[in-house]
Amino acid sequence: MVKPLFKGGKARAITFSFDDGKPADKRLIEIFNKYSLKATFNLNGGRCRNPQFQTKNGEYNEWNGSKELQDMYKGHEIASHSYTHKRPNELSDEDLRLEVRKDVSALSRAFGTEIHGYASPQGDRDERLPKILKENGIRYQRYTCREDTCKPFSLPDDFLKWQPNPHFSFYATKEGKRFINDFFECSDSLPCLMIWGHSYELEELNAKGFERWNGLEKRWEYFDSLCEYLSGRADVWYAANIEICDYVTNMRKAHFDDTYIDNPTDTPLYFDIDGKTIVAPPHTRFGV
Ligand SMILES: [Zn+2]
Repeated sequence: MVKPLFKGGKARAITFSFDDGKPADKRLIEIFNKYSLKATFNLNGGRCRNPQFQTKNGEYNEWNGSKELQDMYKGHEIASHSYTHKRPNELSDEDLRLEVRKDVSALSRAFGTEIHGYASPQGDRDERLPKILKENGIRYQRYTCREDTCKPFSLPDDFLKWQPNPHFSFYATKEGKRFINDFFECSDSLPCLMIWGHSYELEELNAKGFERWNGLEKRWEYFDSLCEYLSGRADVWYAANIEICDYVTNMRKAHFDDTYIDNPTDTPLYFDIDGKTIVAPPHTRFGV
């Protein structure tokens, strides 16, 4: 039987998605880097003079050409969280379009990279967004979720409506630990665990939404040990959001059954055939 696998022949994928770009991102990234995990950071280009990036002597970091910020986020994905974090549901068509366009442009200038992901401020699901995002080269939109609706490990049919798994506080609970173990045992096709949150929740114990944490105080220690637990597994692809979106989009262009594999894309695709991992090189078709 032919079964699709993630890049590198991995059975499952883990990714993280963190919003708002606050100084606590620095410590969070140190944890991700320590365990070789990959994350996506959704930032607001228009808040570049906001205290969120205030330096020790009270000045603001300039994003354009700011090597310090580029170095800090290096190895992770930068994605859009709108230009000034206004709620999409409260904006006119024109302002909503501007919030996306200006953010994509500011972030790509500041980080010298293309921007292909988006997470909506306050998790607003605005039906105008998918079209506007596409016009601006965005290939996926990450939603937020209420915990009773975000349990499956399956990837969305439409990446412009990508629902993550529960907020990062959830995995401190007994139910959350069970959820992770279910993920590691999941034998579905291409299961993905996407954990989202805000770095500052790890140190601002009363930040918005603090009730999610059920009084947990040593949050940095908790998150470090969660990352350690998730890391270093041979069957997991640790990837940024866009890498998963792009790989799976390509996989969906492939044709295969128990007799052949046809990979019409520019990227190598991986499959499991009766327990054996094989790679289908770009633009090949062969019998199995
Ligand atoms: Zn936000």
